[in-house]
Amino acid sequence: MRITAVETTLITATIDPEIMIISSLGSHRLSRYVLLHIHTDEGITGLGEATVMPGWSGETPEGACALVARYFAPELVGHDPFELERHMHTLDRVVVDNPFVKAAIEMALLDLQGKKLGVPVYDLLGGRCHDTAIPVKFVVAATEPDIVVRNAQRMVATGFDTIKIKVGRGNPDADVERVRRVREALGNDVRLTVDANGGWTVTDAIRTIRRLEPFNLVLVEQPVHRKDIAGMARVRSSVGLPIMADEAVFTVADALEVIRQDAADIVSVYPGKNGGILKSRLIAQLAEASGKPCHIGSNLELEPGSAAMAHLAVSTANIVSQRYPADIIGPLYHRDRTTAEPFGVDGGVARVPEGPGLGVTLDERRVAQLAGSEG
Ligand SMILES: [Mg+2]
Repeated sequence: MRITAVETTLITATIDPEIMIISSLGSHRLSRYVLLHIHTDEGITGLGEATVMPGWSGETPEGACALVARYFAPELVGHDPFELERHMHTLDRVVVDNPFVKAAIEMALLDLQGKKLGVPVYDLLGGRCHDTAIPVKFVVAATEPDIVVRNAQRMVATGFDTIKIKVGRGNPDADVERVRRVREALGNDVRLTVDANGGWTVTDAIRTIRRLEPFNLVLVEQPVHRKDIAGMARVRSSVGLPIMADEAVFTVADALEVIRQDAADIVSVYPGKNGGILKSRLIAQLAEASGKPCHIGSNLELEPGSAAMAHLAVSTANIVSQRYPADIIGPLYHRDRTTAEPFGVDGGVARVPEGPGLGVTLDERRVAQLAGSEG
């Protein structure tokens, strides 16, 4: 089997404004992402999603399309889609960084392989070692407590038992009040986490996390700036709640640095951020060797990206979603979808698709509409 073409489609999907995520990084109102198809001489096509957000990784949808057309497609066309390691190595040599675009290509290559062999992607990754129903948590915005409480209560009523609260938007008192109100409204049976997206200074992080300790949080995600690993280590050694690294770990080298400085208790991974499923897997194994469990994070993926996360989650021993529920929730937040059938996420669990490859089939009519819209 040979690759004949790599095609990209820029789409715009809208977010449900009622549950829009507002964090220290801003408001996620629209998803301008890129769907990627790898075509072959056998008529089998692989699907990937570049869940690009300029404020997250610096990648733009327009840049993703240009990068694929000008730099990545010429390295892939004419070659065997099964030579995954070779292709991913080549992409890293041709262009540095751009993890979300590389992850989309890897996703499409794995989708192709699975379709050719008639097996789901998780079987290509060593098979399932976790249940196909993956516990997930709902994320509420760093906004008015009344809105946050209402959204959290609504989702708990549908079966969610874990809620992530965004914090770190410049007002630590408001952060504490928001968490207090949610804990009060939901009671002690619901698990809570907070995510500052790097929005606190080291001093604010230490002070605020100490004030949050009475609310029995499962963990605190990315308290300080992504580049300040030493600062995160200081926070970790000064507070009584577990710290999870998210933005601090894009690459395998980032993971090594967090481990070396013992800057986190838990490491968040997902294919887009890490540049592909195999790199997330490698980070999870490094973390395991250092005694740190992993968690699946998110950039609010649509169905193909969510499927890739689910295949990774069920096939990686050190991704412990029972203990730290995953963020495979993007499809819940979008009003639009790319598939005929909704992605299986509700009631507090995401289900890994069972068909060959990623197990996701696009609805071409819906995708054409999203490609023609600017929201
Ligand atoms: Mg995060």
